[in-house]
Amino acid sequence: MVHALDAADVLATKREAFDLPEGVIYLDGNSLGVLPAHVPSRMAEVIKDQWGTSLVRGWNDHDWIDLPQRVGARIGRLIGAAPGSVVAGDSTSINVFKVLSAALTMRSDRKVILSDNGNFPTDLYVASGLAKLLDAGHELRIVDPDKVEANLGDDIAVMMITEVDYKTGRRHDMKALTAKAHQHGVIAIWDLAHSAGAVPVDLDGAKADFAVGCGYKYLNGGPGAPAFLYVAERHHGALNPALTGWMGHEAPFAFDLDYRPATGIDRMRVGTPPILSLSALDAALDVFDDVDMDTVHRKSVSLCDLFIKEVESRCPELELVTPRDPSVRGSHVSFRFEEGYALMQALIAEGVIGDFRAPDIARFGFTPLYLSHADVVRAAEILEGILRNKTWMQDEFKKKQKVT
Ligand SMILES: *Cc1c(COP(=O)(O)O)cnc(C)c1O
Repeated sequence: MVHALDAADVLATKREAFDLPEGVIYLDGNSLGVLPAHVPSRMAEVIKDQWGTSLVRGWNDHDWIDLPQRVGARIGRLIGAAPGSVVAGDSTSINVFKVLSAALTMRSDRKVILSDNGNFPTDLYVASGLAKLLDAGHELRIVDPDKVEANLGDDIAVMMITEVDYKTGRRHDMKALTAKAHQHGVIAIWDLAHSAGAVPVDLDGAKADFAVGCGYKYLNGGPGAPAFLYVAERHHGALNPALTGWMGHEAPFAFDLDYRPATGIDRMRVGTPPILSLSALDAALDVFDDVDMDTVHRKSVSLCDLFIKEVESRCPELELVTPRDPSVRGSHVSFRFEEGYALMQALIAEGVIGDFRAPDIARFGFTPLYLSHADVVRAAEILEGILRNKTWMQDEFKKKQKVT
């Protein structure tokens, strides 16, 4: 069935760039992006022709050594970051540690890290672990998302916020909050896990200080893909990394016994980059080459609006927890339902893949590059059927798995 809104969709042909399983409506690209169709052949080439043939010469012959910066620059284009201010590698959790520790040394007279209770737990866990390690009286202050601005004051060292709430999809105003933070001399760190590749981001324009984000969500880099981090160019000279590995050294192959920091973003590198997974992410980014994020976002708004409308008219037992206003949300839509886990399992059994976030959130991600409006309507129809027939009540759907 063709939906009227799909007829005018300029991104419709992008679906062919992805290898989507037959019979699946995939609404979880915010958790693990779909495999771009050309990635397997590119990986085979990297493995056989580069690793297999070049062996150790590949570090120079294929310039593996600078792949983190090249992939970083490609991601930078999607998040409004100047070339040379983003590097790919490590995990988001580790990058949180890296940027937060660097930021804290820039405000050593202040002891408060401000975040909100909509932040993803790993960011908060890393911050409290770092505070403990520093043993210098740092406090992690966690407030409601709408109280962040009011809590910005001259006692705050760093504001560390996730732009798009992983549960509700609520989106902070990066530019306004960063400006307010700066008025008080506060360093602003943004986590773009649910923003990069989903909504237009303008890190340089917003004057953000630091940012981190995931490679495996909307960027489709594959399970556990390398993450990325951003440092505004104006901070490069004074950057003080805590993880002073040899890849962040001015001359790694001088093998000096003393540490001398590299210039620029290179200083934030730590160890040997994972070339296979970075190559998969690099290849995956090709699908973004000929699209601009405003176009992607326009379709995201259209898909999310349609899903909200369809679900609310068909499924009154579900409670919308995502903002209706597209200007304050990301690219996923969440509904509260007491048996949200069982509901999601029943949906997955019928080919509609979303996910569940405790305690009661059924979450649906909308990825404009491979979803159509017809998919959205079909997913809502299936959801309606499951609720009407109470299919979710079957025992098999209530058994919790390790990953939800
Ligand atoms: C998904 C996500 C992460 C994941 O961190 P990993 O180190 O990749 O496990 C971190 N922060 C936020 C805000 C996320 O949404």
